[in-house]
This record gives sequence, structure tokens and C-alpha cells, in this order.
Amino acid sequence: MAQKKSNVCVVKHWQDAPKLNESDLADDLNRHFYYTLGRDKVGESKHYLFQALALTIRDRLVARCRATKQHLDQQKTKKAAYLSLEFLMGRALGNAILNLDLEEQIESALSEYGTNLEELESAEHDAGLGNGGLGRLAACFLDSCASLALPVIGYGIRYEYGMFNQSIEHGAQIEHPDKWLREGHPWELSAPEQAKVVKFFGNVETHTDKQGRVHHYWVNTQDVLAVPFDVPIPGYRNGVVNTLRLWKSEATDEFNLKEFNQGSYSEAVAKKNLAEQITMVLYPNDASENGKELRLRQQYFLSSASLQDILHQWTEQHGTDFSDFADYHVFQLNDTHPSVAVAELMRLLLDEYELEWEAAWSITTTTMAYTNHTLLPEALEKWSVSLFSRLLPRVLEIIYEINARFLAEVALKWPGDIDKQRELSLIEEGPEPQIRMAYLAIVGSFSVNGVAALHTELLKSGLFNSFYNLWPSKFNNKTNGVTPRRWLAHCNPELAQLVTEKIGEGWQADFSEIQGIRRFYDKAAFHREWQQVKEHNKVKLAKLVESRCGVQFDTDMMFDVQVKRIHEYKRQLLNILHVIALYDQIRRGEVKNMVPRCVLFGGKAAPGYHMAKLIIKLINNVANVVNKDSAAKPYLRVAFLPNYNVTAMETICAATDLSQQISTAGKEASGTGNMKFMMNGAVTIGTLDGANIEIREQVGDDNFFLFGVTAEQANQVRQNYNPSEIIESFTPLKNTMKLLASGHFNLFEPNIFDDIILSIQSPHDPWLVAQDFESYFDAQQRAAQSYTNKTLWNRMSILNTAASGTFSSDRTISQYSEDIWRLKPMQ
Ligand SMILES: *Cc1c(COP(=O)(O)O)cnc(C)c1O
Repeated sequence: MAQKKSNVCVVKHWQDAPKLNESDLADDLNRHFYYTLGRDKVGESKHYLFQALALTIRDRLVARCRATKQHLDQQKTKKAAYLSLEFLMGRALGNAILNLDLEEQIESALSEYGTNLEELESAEHDAGLGNGGLGRLAACFLDSCASLALPVIGYGIRYEYGMFNQSIEHGAQIEHPDKWLREGHPWELSAPEQAKVVKFFGNVETHTDKQGRVHHYWVNTQDVLAVPFDVPIPGYRNGVVNTLRLWKSEATDEFNLKEFNQGSYSEAVAKKNLAEQITMVLYPNDASENGKELRLRQQYFLSSASLQDILHQWTEQHGTDFSDFADYHVFQLNDTHPSVAVAELMRLLLDEYELEWEAAWSITTTTMAYTNHTLLPEALEKWSVSLFSRLLPRVLEIIYEINARFLAEVALKWPGDIDKQRELSLIEEGPEPQIRMAYLAIVGSFSVNGVAALHTELLKSGLFNSFYNLWPSKFNNKTNGVTPRRWLAHCNPELAQLVTEKIGEGWQADFSEIQGIRRFYDKAAFHREWQQVKEHNKVKLAKLVESRCGVQFDTDMMFDVQVKRIHEYKRQLLNILHVIALYDQIRRGEVKNMVPRCVLFGGKAAPGYHMAKLIIKLINNVANVVNKDSAAKPYLRVAFLPNYNVTAMETICAATDLSQQISTAGKEASGTGNMKFMMNGAVTIGTLDGANIEIREQVGDDNFFLFGVTAEQANQVRQNYNPSEIIESFTPLKNTMKLLASGHFNLFEPNIFDDIILSIQSPHDPWLVAQDFESYFDAQQRAAQSYTNKTLWNRMSILNTAASGTFSSDRTISQYSEDIWRLKPMQ
């Protein structure tokens, strides 16, 4: 007897979400393809079929998402909100299918269309709403929160244009707009009825009531509407679906009406642009602030809309009694980007809900937690007081009040110490006074964390030392991690299967189990299988490199890879100098012990970052010379893969032999690319920087190619640095610099690399390229020699994967949850 389906989607428990079965899946796919999208045959564009499949899966996600929400509404449990200006999600299809365990059903449904999953997956645009590591971390965290059944919502911005697409023309980076929404974004659901109003500009009026209480009114504002779009975040096979809520800015009707009444209808509509500009484009700067007004507008827009959203939900349930709000809510600030939330939460509680200062401050400082991501001075956000007073006058008043009360506390700790006050003030004095956003975040938060052990120690002893002395217990470390679902199970299915054959499939949910493969590290049969998987992955990467760069990578050669944002501190320059040194040796006929290698670079430079762009140009020019030279062919190939993004990384990390993590010690807060490579069995050549230190501790120093000065030594060296002497004293470096200076890589472009040459020779080079060259060169030789011993290399590779358990973002998120958020998993 056919069972009547219920249309009522109210469920008692999140695990009771309607289970849509196999025949439904094929039916739904047809329905979405023929009716929702109105297609009738499979044309040239795979995109419609991709969309139909995404909608089919979204149906299943939405059912579980609603159930997760209803469950949370019924249980009175604490929730966390992760506030981030960036979420570098990449593609969602493969990840959703993996987490929902739908692969077999879908392949069978797709066979009717004469296509397969792999083909449809390639039709999805990356959601590139982030620059690099910081944004990708937010994405990995969302996967882990859902997989650990933690009640966490992500809040971000629905940029119309994500991270720019990069092409390489004549060796140089060209940026192209990333209109990722052009063909629609099938995963999202908008909720216009939950839109919030965000205020800008205007002025503050005060009124003292009969009780003597001062009321502040922020008036004559220009209001912008924040419209939420919800993206479902599925947990790994646990029925949980959390939410990433992305805000889009729109003009309010009122905004238009004012103008309309003045008779200028067209102008009124045109003004919509001003409001809609806010979420138009992601700023493409990684690890550097650019001080643009629109960026501050984005930050405040995200912070205000997200806080209003949560306060609104609270008052719906509890009225305006906020006395135990902090027992049920916590906010994690992903870097200082959303740190204006500290002052905005105060404003909402004071002005909108009429709390007293002390009560509001107590709520703020027990719900806000701040993650620092960098020690680089150029990345520390500061906003000019004058900009703030124009754009956010009421918020500035509140920052002043926070500062006054804070400085009173400083005076108690360090009586009479005016320098201390000046040093710690939220306002930096000078001709153009600035607000120090990191200080606002620290003062307003109960937790301040770094993202790797070394990084946290450097925060405590350096950048934030005085704050550490004031509040030592606020400071804690949470070493970053990456999700093993995307970064092993999904991106390396062959390795995943091999691992599962040996130790079962438990590792996908509990990645500490990955250490179980350690017992095979000496088994010849396992080595053969391990090596074969790597070989297959290298074939795939070689195809990608051939098609995108026209360079042939030979899979017998060592794949030596550095992909990440291009930045001087990450030292792509050190890597390309080594390539030049190898090339120079080849030209001299010094090839006796040379181990053949393919060197792959990838990464985007911030459009305004001259040196980073010049480094890209140098890499491409060197690649051109090397790849054309038949003498070099047996030993060396070099390629720059354009448009490095999450999807490219999925292919790259599975195929890499040697992972380059070569930043100047003390500069890379953690790194997460290093962890993706390690999980996939790459061996690291690296400095004692960021999480490299912990990677080496886990895998053992025999299985890591260490080089370079320590962070402490680097500071010593900088005192008295003489690169010319260093260059002169090490022949391979001397020859390399000579060849570079001779113009060999820029024959028809005279002098273009002068800035690079000068930076290496400068006694003020903060990145110490010349300093670390010899040690790097030596480590590269050790790596190459190890690679020629297949047994040794396989052993190292297996041990790296086996030791990567702690770098799962599940471990990181468990620590955030237990130490900072104090959440209970849903059950
Ligand atoms: C992981 C990742 C990063 C971060 O790489 P690092 O080497 O840690 O700088 C940047 N971009 C993308 C696309 C990534 O997947």
C-alpha cells in the first residue's frame, strides 16, 4: 500500500528529518531539471544538470537544517556565532555528497543523463569569498562544527564578486572579476523577511530623562538593509546541518522614498547603488590592511547585522531580559576584521535595549572572543578617528567611553605611568589619530587566542605583552587545523580508500585514528600501493599543469610544490633562487648527483603589491627559460599554475611529494597549506615557523627537512645583517645572483628585476632571503637524495600522513568548544 507523504515538516528531533530515499532522488533530479530550471534536454552546458543536482541535494539539506534549528529552539543550549569577513568555501557539491553519503545513489541517477559526478562537479564555481588561509580556516571550522554536532552559526558577507580570477600574460598577473553568482548559487536560500537595518553617517542627539538617565539617539542616518542568504553546512554523516548566513546589502525603501518625495525618482533609484556597493566586492588583500572607507563599512555592516540577528532572536524568546544572555551566546571574531562588533554590541544593548553600561559591558566581555592571525605590523588594522566619527559617530562615542574606563584600569596597574597609557590606549595619538582595532578586540574579549604554539608565545612576549601582563588568563593557543573530509577523503579518494582498507573508515569522523596506518610504514606491499596512489594523483596534476601552463611534468620526477598567497614573508623568492641555482648548475654541467624535479608555484598577489607581482613575473620568466632549454629538460621543469584556489589545491595537495613551507621564522602565524600536504603524504621542507614546528614534533625530525634560522635568531641576525658578504661567501648563491643580475631572465625587459635584486642585497631585508639560502640549498639536497631512495621516501610519506591526526580542524574546534565557547554537542 502506498504511503501518503506528510507535508508537515515540524519534527521533534533533528535526527528525525525526513529521509528522502533513492527513487525520490532520481525523481527530484528530473523534476528540478525539467521544471525548476525549465530545461528539456542536456545541451552543451553541464551547468543546468549541476544545478538540478545541487537543488536535489539542497532539498535534503534543507530538511535536516530545519530539523537542526527546531531541535536547537527546543533545547535551551548555548550557541556560538563565528563572525568572519571571509569564508573561502570552494565547491560544495562533492563535500555535501560525501557528508550525506549519497555518492552511489547519485551516480546511478546520473547515468540516465549519460554523465557522471566528476563531470558535474567541474561545472560548479568556487565560492571564493576569501583571500587565503584565514578564509579557508573559517570554512574548515564550519565543516568541523557541524561534524561535531556543535550549535555554531557562521556569519559573513555575500560578496557579489569574490576573490579575483588570475591569468598570466607575458609572465605577469592579470586580475579578472569573479562574477561567481552569474549562473546562480543553487545552495543558498534567502530570508528577506529577516532583513536588518544597518545605520551609517548621521549624528548623535542626547536627552536626559527625569530619572537623570542620558539617552543617545543616532539620527539623520543613511540606512542600509542587510538581507540574509543561508547556505547549509552539512556535518559528516550525523544528520546535522548548520547554517552559514551571508548578508547582502540593499537600499531600504525609506532611503528611496525621501528622494522620491523630493521628485527625483531616478536619482532615488540610482542611489540604490550606494547601499548595494557595500557587499559588491571582496577586498583582495591578504595579511595587509588598506584603510579604505568601504572596507570599514563592510566590517560594520557584517557586525551590526549579525548581532542584531542574534539579539532579535533572543528578545523573541526572552523579551528584553538579558541577564543570562551570556550563558547562551558566544561570538568568535575571526581576526580584527569584525572587531567593531565589541562596540556595536555595547551600542545595541545601551541604546536599543536600554541596559546600564556595567550590565552591557559585562555581557560584551563574557561573550566576545578574539582570534589573532598575524604579527605582521602592516596587517594590524587601524581606522582613523575622523573616518569613524563621520561614518559611525555613535560607535565612536562608545569606543571613547570603553577607552576611558580601560585607561583607568591601566592607571591602577601602572600608577603614574603615562607612557603605559599612551602605549595601551585604544587611540593612537598623532597628527591623524587612529583606533587600534586589535586593542579594542582584546579589551572587549574574555579570550584572545593565537593560531599555533609559537605564534601565541610571540603574541604574549611581543605584540600584546602589556595586555598579557594585565590579563594573562585571557591568552590561549588554538593551533589551526583543516578538515580531513575535504582535504583527504574528498580530494584524494584513492588514498582514502587505501587507508580505509587498512584501518576501517572511522578515521573520517575521528581523525586521530589515522595513526593506525603507522604500522604499515615498513610493509613493502603497502609501499607499492601507497606509491601507486601518489603516481595516479601526479598524473592528474600533470594533466592540469600541461593544460593550463603548457609545461610537461614527468611523474617520475619529484613534485616540489609551493602554492599559497604570494607574499615576501612566504619567500617564494627563496624558492625561485634555488631553481635558478639548479639551472646554473645544469648549465655548468654539474649534474652528477642531480635529482630530477618538477617545481610548481601557484598563488595570487594583492593587486597593489608591487614586489609580490614582480616575484610572479620572475617565476614565469625563469620557467620560460628553463623549460625551453633542452639541457635542463631531464632535470628540471618549472611551472606557475594560474588562479590558485581551493579547487586547484584539491588536485595539488594529493599529488605533491615535497611541500615547501619556507617563511621567515616568526612571520607565518600558523599556515594550513602545510597541514593539507602532510595529510596527503607530502614531506615538508620548512623553517621553524608557525605550525611547521608542531608538524615536525609530530612526525619526528627524521621525516622533515628543516632549515633556516629560528625566530629568535632572525631578530639577532637583523641587528647586524650583511647580505652582500653572505652572497659572496657561498658560491651557488653568488652564481645565482650573477646570473639573475646579468639579465639572463629578462633579456628584452632590461632592469625589471632590479627591485628584487636590491631587496636581497639590502641589509634591511626583513625576510632574510640571503641569510637562509645556504641552509635551504642544503635541505633541498637532502630532500632530493632521500627521494631517490624509494623505500625511504615512502616510509617518510606514510609517517607524515600517519602523524597528521592532530591537524584535523575537528581537534581545533573541540578545543575552541571546550576551552572558549563551552558548548555541548547536540544529541
Ligand atoms: C589552504 C589554503 C591557503 C592557505 O595556505 P598557506 O600555505 O597556509 O598560506 C590559501 N589558499 C587556498 C586556496 C588554500 O586552500
